Amino acid sequence: SKKDDGNHVTVYDAELDAEYTFRRKIEEALRLAIRSPDEFYMLYQPIVNARTMELHSVEALARWNCASLGPIAPDVFISVAEKSGLIVQLGSLLLKKIFCDMQCRPDLRFNINISPLQLLSSGFIPTLTRLLGEHSISPSRIEIELTEGVLVSNCDTVQAQLKQLRQMGITTALDDFGTGFSSIGYLQKMPLDTLKIDRSFVSGLGDDKVLANVLHSIVSLGRTLGKSITAEGVETLYEAEILADVGCHYLQGYLFSRPQPLDQILKAAG
Ligand code: C2E
Ligand code: CA
Ligand code: CA
Ligand code: CA
Repeated sequence: SKKDDGNHVTVYDAELDAEYTFRRKIEEALRLAIRSPDEFYMLYQPIVNARTMELHSVEALARWNCASLGPIAPDVFISVAEKSGLIVQLGSLLLKKIFCDMQCRPDLRFNINISPLQLLSSGFIPTLTRLLGEHSISPSRIEIELTEGVLVSNCDTVQAQLKQLRQMGITTALDDFGTGFSSIGYLQKMPLDTLKIDRSFVSGLGDDKVLANVLHSIVSLGRTLGKSITAEGVETLYEAEILADVGCHYLQGYLFSRPQPLDQILKAAG
């Protein structure tokens, strides 16, 4: 429907309005939940070596069972947290949970998702350093996963933060690689250790002959730049074989395991 306020006609979209109301509700609930952190918990998804299929690491994935609204998907509550400025608090809360879990499983390496806004906040490295100390966690067991978003437009700050993480012994991965705007120059300049190839490339492999060649080029480029390559969203053996053939080092997806509670993750080899 259209509303005419006299000066101009605006399109009134009921769906957008409902979406807005829903997000406002989530934001309110999130504010409360941050004060009772038991509503949040982590699941862990294996990342395996593409040749040996041995467990390499686990990715921590947040879940929120909201007392008033029920389970809310992480895509949704993370984006609400980012837009409302709650992400820094939420991010540290989740980090604490992950570090507690890391103490239970000294045999595992952990991949941790960090919102770019959290990385860019001035307190991030000090908080991270403090929490690592409090939980006696070796930074070498951690890889931080970042999506491009605001990273590209804050190039210098991001570069400085990534350098600091590297000095601490933490490795970093560019998440959802291929869906953003990072140029080859950007990739070369940024001290990133790993590229995680987005699921959309992987799931297209079945019916698109050109895609395997595109993937091959992307993986070769990444390898030439000295990056470690992980493919995510691997659901079939067929996909796993192609991905290993084109040179991915690590694979992750439902084929190997869904995200699981930590105590269901098998012991790492070695
Ligand atoms: P992501 O980091 O790209 O995580 C991968 C997502 O793909 C996860 O969704 C995972 O459950 C799903 N997935 C894994 N394997 C497969 C597969 O074979 N097929 C399909 N269809 N999906 C697969 P999830 O757990 O719903 O998380 C969604 C997003 O929420 C994450 O995407 C990440 O961006 C964000 N997120 C989750 N936990 C955290 C967190 O602790 N902190 C931050 N900042 N973001 C988080
Ligand atoms: Ca991720
Ligand atoms: Ca991803
Ligand atoms: Ca994603």
